[in-house]
Parts: sequence; structure tokens; C-alpha cells
Amino acid sequence: MSLFDDHFASKNAASARAWAMDDDKNAKKDKRREPAAPKMGVCDKCHREALVRSYRTRQTDLGNGAASFGTVIKYYCEECAPKSRRERDADVPQLSNKQVKNLMKSAKKGLL
Ligand SMILES: [Zn+2]
Repeated sequence: MSLFDDHFASKNAASARAWAMDDDKNAKKDKRREPAAPKMGVCDKCHREALVRSYRTRQTDLGNGAASFGTVIKYYCEECAPKSRRERDADVPQLSNKQVKNLMKSAKKGLL
């Protein structure tokens, strides 16, 4: 543990907070990007019946040698839901520097 590590971690947390604030402003401007409210359904990933949210995902299909681009709606339960960058960043300010460091260590090991 060095002074540099502490400095880096707190700087990192500060920039994460700045990101979260920016994203907050964006969220107010563009409500359409909010996932819909959860409802009962079957998760497209684990196929369990659960409270699911709809997510728009971009999909590229290769059919008959031609690429087609489309947006598909997928339903995911809370566990399988892809985390948006805003949601991940919103979590960061609640973490202590120690927790952030542990997360970063895990990320380096490829556990995340
Ligand atoms: Zn699921």
C-alpha cells in the first residue's frame, strides 16, 4: 500500500462521482433511455419467471450473406439485467475507497 494507491483510488472515486452527476443530467434530458418498470414475465436469459424489465439491444444478423441491423427487445430479470454505465457509476459513490480498491483488484484478475 503506498500513498500513490490512496491518491489514485480517491481520484478515481471522484471522477466516478462526476460521471454519475453528468449521467444524472442526461437521464433527465432523455427519459426514453430509462428501462421500463419491472413486470412479471419470463427472463430471456435464465428462463425463470420473475420480475423482468425490457431492454432494447442492438442486434446484427447475418442472413443470406447480407447483414441486417435491428433493435430487439429482451426481457431480463434483475439478476440477468445488463448493467448500464449509469447504474454502475451510481453504485460507486456508495463504496468506500477500500471497497473500490477491492473491486479494482477483482477486475484486474478478471473476476468481474
Ligand atoms: Zn434471469
